[in-house]
Amino acid sequence: MPGLVGGLPLEIDALPADTADQVMSVTLLRESAFRYAGRMLLLTFDDYFVRTWSAVRGLFTAYDARVSFFISEPDRLDAEEWRMLRDLAADGHTVGAHGWRHRWAPDRIAELGGDGYLAEDVTPCVELLRAQGFAPRSFAYPVSRHCEKSDQVLGGVFSRLRGGVPVKPAVDLSTLDDLFVPLAEVPSRRVLLGASIDTGKAFRPAGVGDASVSAALRRAADRQECLTLYGHAVADRHEANHTAPARVEAILAQAAELGLPCRGFDELDAGVAGHA
Ligand SMILES: [Zn+2]
Repeated sequence: MPGLVGGLPLEIDALPADTADQVMSVTLLRESAFRYAGRMLLLTFDDYFVRTWSAVRGLFTAYDARVSFFISEPDRLDAEEWRMLRDLAADGHTVGAHGWRHRWAPDRIAELGGDGYLAEDVTPCVELLRAQGFAPRSFAYPVSRHCEKSDQVLGGVFSRLRGGVPVKPAVDLSTLDDLFVPLAEVPSRRVLLGASIDTGKAFRPAGVGDASVSAALRRAADRQECLTLYGHAVADRHEANHTAPARVEAILAQAAELGLPCRGFDELDAGVAGHA
């Protein structure tokens, strides 16, 4: 991986402010995603809640954070939501795919075979995203269900896949080793497993507590690891799974304080031929 070549880490934070401004172009950050930091947060959001994501666009910018949005049922988006998603992409965020009808990959592959599943739930999603000007290179598994066969089938289409680890509300995320990948291993890790940061669903509180999320961020920073997390709608109350804006900001603020760069999935493979 080009990002790992070159030896010395580039410490952008150590540069004088004016130089840092010039250096911190999105292009360079993308090319040097692995070089300039020994740890990383991959914060991701799933489904089609573009309006709620757009509402916190300024938060991401304020904390120099780039995240990933995995879109399912893209045909639900109206023209205004497509415009918002384009604005988010223009800010440097990743837009990936999450299924045309949010089908469970292992189950559909067992029923239809790999090609049948791709034709049913993946290709239409990718094609509509492309028609709207996006180039999805990563995929998040609906309800995090995956298997060796699905990794193989989808690995032929996408650079990266995001799965998930089921988490009980009382768990301390920092104890779940599957969420943490030593940064040097990230280039060869095609499937990254995340945990939910959602604070509620069906208009009620749910999910892990603030201390659990905070401990996970500290572990990634302390041990030089890459941590993957996922949410859905960004809202205080919502019918669907949702993450409170205050939690999103708390994560971004703590990550910034810890020197834990928050980056999008597309940045993991920047610089690879054919994936510019
Ligand atoms: Zn989903």
